[in-house]
Amino acid sequence: MHYAHTVIPGTQVRLRDIDPDASGGLTKDEGRERFASFNATLDAMQEELYAAGVHALLLILQGMDTAGKDGAIRNVMHNLNPQGCRVESFKVPTEEELAHDFLWRVHKVVPRKGMVGVFNRSHYEDVLVVRVHSLVPEHVWRARYDQINAFERLLTDTGTIIVKCFLHISKDEQEKRLLAREQDVTKAWKLSAGDWRERERWDEYMAAYEEALTRCSTEYAPWYIIPANRKWYRDLAISEVLVETLRPYRDDWQRALDAMSQARLAELKAFRHQQTAGATRL
Ligand code: AMP
Ligand code: MG
Repeated sequence: MHYAHTVIPGTQVRLRDIDPDASGGLTKDEGRERFASFNATLDAMQEELYAAGVHALLLILQGMDTAGKDGAIRNVMHNLNPQGCRVESFKVPTEEELAHDFLWRVHKVVPRKGMVGVFNRSHYEDVLVVRVHSLVPEHVWRARYDQINAFERLLTDTGTIIVKCFLHISKDEQEKRLLAREQDVTKAWKLSAGDWRERERWDEYMAAYEEALTRCSTEYAPWYIIPANRKWYRDLAISEVLVETLRPYRDDWQRALDAMSQARLAELKAFRHQQTAGATRL
């Protein structure tokens, strides 16, 4: 990947070493141009993924408040066919959800084959907010890293392609964005005193993210760190990760589509043959 930072499995993540301001040496216009080209490719790939129906794509987005999860969903998914996409947002669990294991609500909504599923927050909250606020005892959330890896292994073994993106913004950038929401009456609906409260725990969140990214970046479901202080760069980096992750599967999809085409044509040919034979008998 050129624009995102790949977390190599088994390496320790240090977020302060990764510049959230990165621009890849591009201007905003250049970045938007490249983004548009990735987006067009993604559009074509989604059609093949959908028609072939052999894989599902699951995009997991995590990040602090204001990191741009909503904006990324709007921009990166905007070319895709809505029939083949579904976004799931994970909020504070309900009483029913809490009465089950933490993956119960997640597993129910993973995408079926052919579909693109986007998670706005995810099962990672169960080792992030849950850890920072001690919502369960430490031995319970500690066990979850392995449980998450096993869950993601199950999904990838059975046809789901997983892409995990952490939107990395700086603490200063978050402050700017929160203050901007207060200034702009049209954005004030997004405001939440809770965001300021969580912000006080910034360092604890960074520690929790570092451990999650370190322990749960695997060969089969790697984490990508997306420099996200610049929105155009964030979109570019995510779209590149998606395109480059999907590209190797295109041959599989093409083969599945060719086989389907052959079968349909043969079926039609047999049907026509039968019709002519019937007509001759009459
Ligand atoms: P938002 O994304 O701004 O709509 O907020 C959703 C809220 O739900 C965030 O504050 C999350 O931290 C919280 N949340 C999501 N999943 C969990 C979870 N498993 N346990 C506790 N809180 C969660
Ligand atoms: Mg929020």
